[in-house]
Amino acid sequence: MKISPIEQLFTVFNETALVLQEELSCSYLEALAETGENMFQGTILQDELSELTTKRLKKQYEEIHLDKYSKEDIRKAYQLVILKGMKENVQPNHQMTPDTIGLLVGYLLDRFVKQSTFRLLDPAVGTGNLLTTVLNHVPKEITSIGVDVDDILIKLAYVNANLQEHPIQLFNQDALEPLFIDPVEAVIADLPVGFYPNDVRAADYQLKANTGHSYSHHLFIEQSVRHTVPGGYLIFLVPSGLFESEQAAQLHEFLKEHVIIQGLLQLPETMFKNKSAAKNIFILQKKGEGIQPPKQAMLVNLPSLSKQYEMDRILSQIEKWFQENKG
Ligand code: SAM
Repeated sequence: MKISPIEQLFTVFNETALVLQEELSCSYLEALAETGENMFQGTILQDELSELTTKRLKKQYEEIHLDKYSKEDIRKAYQLVILKGMKENVQPNHQMTPDTIGLLVGYLLDRFVKQSTFRLLDPAVGTGNLLTTVLNHVPKEITSIGVDVDDILIKLAYVNANLQEHPIQLFNQDALEPLFIDPVEAVIADLPVGFYPNDVRAADYQLKANTGHSYSHHLFIEQSVRHTVPGGYLIFLVPSGLFESEQAAQLHEFLKEHVIIQGLLQLPETMFKNKSAAKNIFILQKKGEGIQPPKQAMLVNLPSLSKQYEMDRILSQIEKWFQENKG
C-alpha cells in the first residue's frame, strides 16, 4: 500500500517527538517543536541525548527530504501531530484553527484586499495554522506578523513557519500590551474568548468593562483596529454570542465609531463541540477617507461545510455579493 506524503511526514514527526518527549521529559507539544526544529536545521540540537537516541533520530530524519514535500503537505502533517498533542492537554481557548475555517478566511481575505502586496497581522497566532493556511492559499505577496502570549504555541508557529519556508515575524508577548508593529493592511485572528485578567492594561482601551474584568475578545478587536491602516480589513473568528453579552452596547458603539461592518458569516454549530463554543466570521473595514460602506453587509448562514451542493450555492451568493458591492 502506498503511503501518502502527509502520512510519511506524520509518522516521522510523531515517532521522533515521542522519543524526544521521553528523553527530555517534556510535553508532546514541546517535543514536537524540538523535532521540527531539528528537521529544519538538518541536525540534532539537543546535546543531552544518548548516543543511541541521536543515532535513531538521525536515521529517521534521513528518510525525509523536506524539499520534496509541498508547503500544504507539511502544514497538514504538522496540523495532525499538533492535534494529537492538543488532545492530551490544551485549554479550549488555545485550540488550533482548523483548515476548513482557514480556507474560508483565506478566500475572504483574497477577495476583500485588492492590493497584490500587503502586510498581514495575526495577533493571536497560536500554532500558526490559520496564518499559514491563509499564506498557502492567497496568491499575493504577503508580509506577515504573528503575536502570541503562549511560549509553546509560538514555538510551534515558528517551527511551522520554518518548515513551510514562510518568513513570518513573530512576537512572543501579550498582544494587548503595546505592539511595536507598523499598521497593517489586514488582520486575521481566531480570537481568544473570555475575560482578560489585567485590569490595569485594559484601562487603556475604550472597550474596557465599566466594572470587573474586560472581555479579551473585545480588547483584541480594538487593538487590531488600532494597528490597521484606514481602509484596511479585519477578519475575526468571534464567539457566536458576541452581541448578546452585557457589554454588547459598548462594542456596538466602538464599531460604529471606528469601522464599517462588511459581513458576518455564521458557521454551522456542527463544527464545534457544543453550542456555546460556536463561532462566526466577522469582517470589518477600518474607516478612512473615501471608504464607503457596502450597500448591504454580507450576512450568510453557512451550511455544514461537507454539504457540497449547499456550500456551492452559498459560495455563489457570496461571489454575487462581491460583484454587487466591491465591483
Ligand atoms: N489561530 C491559531 C492557530 O491556528 O493555532 C489559534 C488561536 S487560539 C483560538 C487563540 C490564541 O490566543 C491562543 O494561541 C492563545 O495563546 C492566544 N492568546 C490568548 N490571550 C492572549 C494575549 N493576551 N495575547 C496574545 N495572545 C493571546
